[in-house]
Amino acid sequence: MSTTGKINVQTENIFPIIKKFLYSDNEIFLRELVSNAVDATQKLKALSSMGEAKGDLGDLKVEVVVDKAAKTITIKDKGIGMTSDEIEKYITQIAFSGAEEFVNKYKDKVDKNVVIGHFGLGFYSAFMVAKKVEIFSLSFKEGAKAVRWECDGSPEYQIEEIDSKTSRGTDIVLHIAEDCEEYLENGKIEGLLKKYCKFLPVEIKFGTKKDWIPSDEKDEKGEPKETEIEVDNIINNPNPAWTKKPADLKDEDYKSFYRELYPMQFEEPLFNIHLNVDYPFNLTGILYFPKLSNKLEMPKDRIQLYSNQVFVTDNVENIVPDFLTLLRGVIDSPDIPLNVSRSYLQADGNVKKISSHITKKVADKLEEIFKKDRTEFEKKWDDIKIFVQYGMISDEKFYEKAAKFYLLKTSEGKFFTFEEFESHVKPVQTDKDNKLVYLYANNLNEQHAYIDAAKGRGYEVLLMETMLDPHFINHMESKLKDTSFVRVDSDTIDKLIKKDDNTISKLSDDQQKELRPIIEGAVPKDQFMVMFENLSEKDAPMLITRPEFMRRMKDMNQLGGGSMGFYGNMPDMYNLVVNSNHPLISKILEEKNSDKQKDLTKQATDLALLSQGLLKGESLTNFIKRSVELL
Ligand code: ADP
Repeated sequence: MSTTGKINVQTENIFPIIKKFLYSDNEIFLRELVSNAVDATQKLKALSSMGEAKGDLGDLKVEVVVDKAAKTITIKDKGIGMTSDEIEKYITQIAFSGAEEFVNKYKDKVDKNVVIGHFGLGFYSAFMVAKKVEIFSLSFKEGAKAVRWECDGSPEYQIEEIDSKTSRGTDIVLHIAEDCEEYLENGKIEGLLKKYCKFLPVEIKFGTKKDWIPSDEKDEKGEPKETEIEVDNIINNPNPAWTKKPADLKDEDYKSFYRELYPMQFEEPLFNIHLNVDYPFNLTGILYFPKLSNKLEMPKDRIQLYSNQVFVTDNVENIVPDFLTLLRGVIDSPDIPLNVSRSYLQADGNVKKISSHITKKVADKLEEIFKKDRTEFEKKWDDIKIFVQYGMISDEKFYEKAAKFYLLKTSEGKFFTFEEFESHVKPVQTDKDNKLVYLYANNLNEQHAYIDAAKGRGYEVLLMETMLDPHFINHMESKLKDTSFVRVDSDTIDKLIKKDDNTISKLSDDQQKELRPIIEGAVPKDQFMVMFENLSEKDAPMLITRPEFMRRMKDMNQLGGGSMGFYGNMPDMYNLVVNSNHPLISKILEEKNSDKQKDLTKQATDLALLSQGLLKGESLTNFIKRSVELL
């Protein structure tokens, strides 16, 4: 008995439209069909365990076979199968109406970006690559008759009973369209299976692979003869680590799963977080903390999103907060809607909840390690610091938790939490207005002299050297009460943290007026501001400082890609601080020979520049010559 039916859709031929819209993403047909096959298999297992499917289930592998000569791809399962009525209902009615709905919704949308994303059209995605699709199916139900269904992409289809299929399950045969023949390459299909089906819960076998094994027989050269055998080429691991209980996994299991996920990644992860939630939504997964470099770059190995072990995407941008995209691993949730566009996904309530849940879990895990094993946490700190900073700046909830375990590192490599640091430095680093001043350096070598001076006063200097630090400092100043961050080289040691004890100046105002033009003449005027300060005799005669505000503007500008044009284009500005109390300054003032006075001044300014690494090229050569002469 054979019937011809007409699918009840308004559109004359919906498939060209589907094809056009989904062209860029047409490879998902394989994911859809293989996961249908897996579903049918899982359903059979469930029915069997309830006693509703009788007998031994036998081998349940799903098989994908490419026949290049016949130009077909066949997806075979040994699952529940479908009766003729079920095909009419599930394939021609339900699935078609889904496809029609999709077309009606999107046919007027010109903006392709709205449409592209992941639209599993289920069964009908087959028509993105096939000009004709056949279904051969035999239901598990007792006495069921095998059926063959065929459709060429027009709204007409044929269905008939057949005798040729005698084994339970469904074969979907795709007759590949001329413009999609790339899918007839074994390598292409294997690649897609590895991408989308790597962790499907039923074994997926791809074609057959020949292998050679040595046998007892010898060939003419007396070497053991090799026999050709067929081996199963199983694509997937049906029981990936994230589906197991954390209690059943050892550290090594997590590490080997990491290698399974990222075979090209040779560095080991720092630690992992096993996610396992079943209320109010379903979520499992394993997140890994990789070693992060100090640069914020788009990670190549990204978090992979799965739905019931079916790969959905590894582009989780805008689905989880940006800072979490620095992590690696998998998230699996059946509550993440798959067959929708990315913009829909972003607005989805479940996705938002999942996202904030992950944020919380990550913070909890970090806190746990911090509390359990501080030494270990400190060891890993440099590698995770940028992640924590990014999270604290961009996510208030994360900030609240992380502020307790964020570690400030001093120039001596000691670690303090914010709370610890405050009580540690409060006695010495409070200024006359009762404000706390946190000193920092971003280069231990270049700022060595300043750090030394600060230490001499009993100050603690923090090391803030990453590219996010300038932003982080701004953020923390808005968070911490009466606290500011000041770089050690931004002012003279007395002024870094202003206390009341003023030293008296040895130079009168008139003497300063007399000296100023002489000193100004020794340095480029547009870059150096000469200022007199009453430092101690033991301090340097002259020194260079860089005002905190100006420097920060410049740093921020660099980080923001030059958006703040004005500050970005300004030359570097420095203060040339003259220590009015240093004997050398009096000596310059008293020198009557103007050439000698010039030389002395030049020598003193050059020394200050030198200690900052600012003396270069010809100036440096001249300085060396002059020094030799003076000696
Ligand atoms: P979905 O899988 O989202 O329900 P599909 O269009 O992929 O939508 O499939 C429609 C229905 O057809 C399925 O729900 C299932 O009942 C049936 N079906 C599809 N493929 C198979 C198969 N290989 N074995 C048994 N039933 C299938």
